[in-house]
Amino acid sequence: MTSWNGKNITVAGLGVSGISAARALAGLGARITVVDGGDSATHEARAAELQSEGIAVRLADADTLPEGTELVVTSPGWKPSSPLFEAAAKAGVDVVGDVEIAWQLRGPDAAPWLAITGTNGKTTTTQMLASILTAAGKRTAAVGNIGTPIIDVVLQGDAYDVLAVELSSYQLHWAPSLRAHSAAVLNLAPDHLDWHGSMDAYAADKGRIYEGNTVACVYNVADTATEDLVREADVEEGCRAIGFTLGTPGPSQLGIVDGILVDRAFVTNRQKNAQELAEVSDVTPAAPHNLANALAAAALARAYGVEPAAVRDGLRAFRPDAHRIEHVADVDGVTYIDDSKATNTHAAEASLAAYESIVWIAGGLAKGATFDELVKKSAKHLRGVVLIGADRALIREALARHAPEVPVVDLDRTDTGAMPAAVREAAALATAGDTVLMAPACASMDMFANYNKRGEAFADAVRELADTRA
Ligand code: ADP
Repeated sequence: MTSWNGKNITVAGLGVSGISAARALAGLGARITVVDGGDSATHEARAAELQSEGIAVRLADADTLPEGTELVVTSPGWKPSSPLFEAAAKAGVDVVGDVEIAWQLRGPDAAPWLAITGTNGKTTTTQMLASILTAAGKRTAAVGNIGTPIIDVVLQGDAYDVLAVELSSYQLHWAPSLRAHSAAVLNLAPDHLDWHGSMDAYAADKGRIYEGNTVACVYNVADTATEDLVREADVEEGCRAIGFTLGTPGPSQLGIVDGILVDRAFVTNRQKNAQELAEVSDVTPAAPHNLANALAAAALARAYGVEPAAVRDGLRAFRPDAHRIEHVADVDGVTYIDDSKATNTHAAEASLAAYESIVWIAGGLAKGATFDELVKKSAKHLRGVVLIGADRALIREALARHAPEVPVVDLDRTDTGAMPAAVREAAALATAGDTVLMAPACASMDMFANYNKRGEAFADAVRELADTRA
């Protein structure tokens, strides 16, 4: 066990995870200095609160390592190339994240972790898993990149039987000793490459989730990069590789046969037998990517020993968070779907594959992405496109190259008030039976505070439209 008493620890970042780490470690007797580059009124207020608890805070300087630092605990968003970490490396001081601290703070009988990462679908799958575990009567929570800070959860001692843990690539990067019971990598597509430096580095950080797994490494049969990561991982003796597929499963896989989610991994005589888990209609929304999420969650639950009936009940009880393929309304026979959370091309591709005939509202901040692949794969579903946001020209040009026959309305707007106009244009392009899908494939910050606000603006605009047609 690490002794924290009297240890000089620098916490990088005065956000939710930084504050949680600072308080938890101070509570164990460590001497904490929190550093942050900001000095806004919010920073000042948070700093004052921590200082009143005896925690030192240094604002407006994120780069210099405080004298005497023995360990740096970073918040997930900080880049590995940050000057603070370079200074730490020079001084021979380790840098770890909140997940690493949580892992080290676990007691000997702590709840095992079922861990989930991937470029898209992490939150949904983690919540599905928590729902299944709850249906199985287990005391559990969805934690990690979501919900209560993971350190706080671990400090609650034996309050949980098992945890469903969502981990971002950043958190995995900073959690070298994490050893999950079982873990899943849902998919791998280029994202956050500015942070990791390269696709290889990003994949390597994701792959850490499999290190030291004891029961199952769950991978996506359709995404060979995830299977490669399993092969490269150093796992405990007897740990199995379990695939999930939207097709008929082979032995040691979960998959779908005639509208039924089936398990050919955690059954006796898996060469011959399969166990029925749930029906496709038990999953909301029953779109292909979301069925993949459900299969991954089911695989982890089954690895933990959950009975088939609880998998079904947990999936039935699950409803996704807002702005994830959320049905807003039907107006004049046209369905309006809010997938504001589709902030990258990989996510947008999944929702564009889920509907037959789509008027697509897209655009925003591209974060360095290109759109040729997305447009090529989705062209056959597109009845029309409405473009908004700063980087809309990139999408317009890709459409011109790969789907020149699809009508495009470029709103030429980047103001917050543009959404009602986008919805009206989309309504004009749609006919009964179509879906108007706001899955922008871009980040929202050019026009909105975040993807939630973008989704709300869309839903408001759709309701406005419905009122004018009523
Ligand atoms: P994350 O936590 O990884 O950001 P979410 O569960 O919040 O993932 O879903 C984000 C978006 O990604 C959703 O709005 C949906 O469009 C898309 N998505 C969800 N699951 C998948 C998947 N398995 N593959 C591709 N895209 C997905």
